[in-house]
Amino acid sequence: MTLTPLQKVTTFCLILMIIVLSGLAFMRFIMMPRIDKSMNEVIAHTPYRVSDQAAKLHTSLNIADLHADTLLWQRNPERRHQRGHTDLPRLREGQVALQIFTTVTKSPPDLNYEKNNADKDDITALAIAQMWPPRTWKSIFARAHYQAERLKKIAHNDPDFYLIRTRQDLSRTITKRRNNKNIIAGILGMEGAHPLEGKIENLGTLYDAGFRVIGLQHFFDNELGGSLHGISGDGHGISGDGLTPFGRAVIAWANSHHMIIDVAHSSHKVVKQTLEASIKPLIVSHTGFAGHCPSRRNIPDELIRQITQKGGLIGVGFWGDVICDPSPKGIALALQYGVNNFGVDHIALGSDFDGTVQTALDASELAAITQELLTLGMDEETIAKIMGENAIAFFQNNLP
Ligand SMILES: [Zn+2]
Repeated sequence: MTLTPLQKVTTFCLILMIIVLSGLAFMRFIMMPRIDKSMNEVIAHTPYRVSDQAAKLHTSLNIADLHADTLLWQRNPERRHQRGHTDLPRLREGQVALQIFTTVTKSPPDLNYEKNNADKDDITALAIAQMWPPRTWKSIFARAHYQAERLKKIAHNDPDFYLIRTRQDLSRTITKRRNNKNIIAGILGMEGAHPLEGKIENLGTLYDAGFRVIGLQHFFDNELGGSLHGISGDGHGISGDGLTPFGRAVIAWANSHHMIIDVAHSSHKVVKQTLEASIKPLIVSHTGFAGHCPSRRNIPDELIRQITQKGGLIGVGFWGDVICDPSPKGIALALQYGVNNFGVDHIALGSDFDGTVQTALDASELAAITQELLTLGMDEETIAKIMGENAIAFFQNNLP
């Protein structure tokens, strides 16, 4: 049988389509879960010992965490997974009452804490491999918007998960939680404000989509100013550029709309200038303390002190680069350093779960931290504050 030219073209197109679709399915269902698992690794360990006293205390707490990048990964957070750090079932096992879900939208290849330029981006490939909608392949704004839609869908499907937009939403949800420990409050945050694509009107659209926390920078300098890991200024974010006029306009807009400003990845100069420009307290959603664990990733204690003196909140990360020892004991020691040096009211958890970091525990194992805080001799009231009440109070005071 001879094929007509039209049949030849049709057959070729069909074969090509099958190859492309098989390739995409391979990426989506085989490669991506592997990449996710290796990038968001939990260090193998025997189960952590939690005493009856620690377990009882932990169950009575409202745990809050200021930073998780779960929405970046194409696993459904409504179900429990064997990979990554967190999902709703594991948050519930960990007694989490409030979780900030941050959206990562652009990330340079060869990510490092010293020096990254903004030219290249890995999230484009990730968006395609995970079969995100085509609009997200090119637009950073669309990526933030798409991840917000994902969280809204979760809130729609899960009757005990609430997307929080106002302080009343949060108070109501935490009150309801007294009778139903399954209840989780979620707040949307962006990791770096590049999704604004330099336009203040995009901030309004993202605010309407539910965003209430705005991280100014991520790993590279952006339209708002210098990153802690960018190339501006002397070529190192540390003394890199400060705020641009657009950055200042964003701060004013955020202040007037009760959007919370996060300087977790900002250059020292941006942190200083934001402290001066913002009339509202700042957060550092995921960090360690340079005085406790000297690291390029940790801003100086003096800047942390200025942030806390103005009512700010510091989220202590769970990964080794920022606390030097990522074990539950290491996390407890970093929290204790924070309490001793910056005051009991200003310290919180900032896990960076699912943020391409390696941790010693996942969200279901947070009681191990409560155990270690008790072992350090910390009193129960202080533990309750740093494990969640400080963060809940901060958002109750600073949300719209
Ligand atoms: Zn981060």
